[in-house]
Amino acid sequence: MKKNILDFLKEELPLSPNFRAKQIFQWIYQKGAKTFEEMSNLPKKLREELAEKFEIGVPKILNVEKSRDGSKKYLLGLKDGHTVEAVLLPMKKEQRDEKGNIVKEAKYTVCVSSQVGCKVGCEFCLTAKGGFVRNLTPGEIVGQVLAIKEDNNIAANRRVNIVYMGMGEPLDNLENVAKAVKIFSDENGLSISPRRQTISTSGLAPKIKKLAEKNLGVLLAISLHAVDDELREKLMPINKAYNIKSVIDAVKEFPIDQRKRVMFEYLMIKDLNDDIKAAKKLVKLLNGIKAKVNLIYFNPYPGSPFQRPDEKRVKEFQEYLLKHGVLCTIRESKGLDISAACGQLKEKESGCSV
Ligand code: SAH
Ligand code: SF4
Repeated sequence: MKKNILDFLKEELPLSPNFRAKQIFQWIYQKGAKTFEEMSNLPKKLREELAEKFEIGVPKILNVEKSRDGSKKYLLGLKDGHTVEAVLLPMKKEQRDEKGNIVKEAKYTVCVSSQVGCKVGCEFCLTAKGGFVRNLTPGEIVGQVLAIKEDNNIAANRRVNIVYMGMGEPLDNLENVAKAVKIFSDENGLSISPRRQTISTSGLAPKIKKLAEKNLGVLLAISLHAVDDELREKLMPINKAYNIKSVIDAVKEFPIDQRKRVMFEYLMIKDLNDDIKAAKKLVKLLNGIKAKVNLIYFNPYPGSPFQRPDEKRVKEFQEYLLKHGVLCTIRESKGLDISAACGQLKEKESGCSV
């Protein structure tokens, strides 16, 4: 069986002389090559050898849902027939001068999946409902970005930001995710610095430490969602193994760029965790951490046990945090009309929920 060349770091490609690996990276990641055949500055014999051993395994786009705000959610097919989701989020529109020339390029973030399904089993998450199937390989993670960039005519050499917030728990697939971070950041490839890559975790405390040891330079996001263990255990069973204190302790040890912050995601669920008492506790909990909080509206799906909170409640929560010195943003309801929370498109496709 052919190997997926996207699974390999440049140093791992068994090629001599060395600059051949560099050229191959440039072809795939910067010029968007689909075949080895078209890599015209490689000797013909090498191209043939490569085509025998490798394939350029970009996942297939099976479905796209467009949101009114411009975000696009992709259902991607993997080689073995499993599917995952990835989302393109436009962050800033391109700017043109009066003659129509682009003066500032648009900015994008791509949200990638790290596993087919997830073991963690959070109560509010659709991905959890399908159980765990398997880890994605580094190339399957990297390939999601290649597929999306191409589909949107985003120039191959344009950088995008990466968030590991699609399906799956990235730290439960740490080795492959760490490798994807490195492949993304290769200067002959997509050249996406680790500081533009955010790994989001439900709080696997020992794995946060392992990630810290790897010193990749990535940003960290913690899906906190509750400020007391009792509620967090109900929402996220993983809290029984690693409680809030253990997660916070691990975060305190995590190396982070002086100019950056650890992001705490807080899913606001109506009448469950959206009151000022919770905001107060959150301020205390984050004391001493360079943090920023991102409040997310719970995105209901058919049959979901929870509801979307009132806008007023979310705003008050945010104001409380800001007043007490905690940076806090509210995640735009990006893609709300396209069922943008993780797992929702996939569930639709398999006919489970709609
Ligand atoms: N497993 C990792 C990363 C993927 S989940 C993690 O949990 O952090 C990405 C984010 O989507 C998490 O913060 C998760 O809590 C959130 N999410 C899951 N279901 C959601 C829903 N129905 N509405 C809004 N956000 C949701
Ligand atoms: Fe897994 Fe994250 Fe969904 Fe929890 S929220 S089940 S950790 S993907």
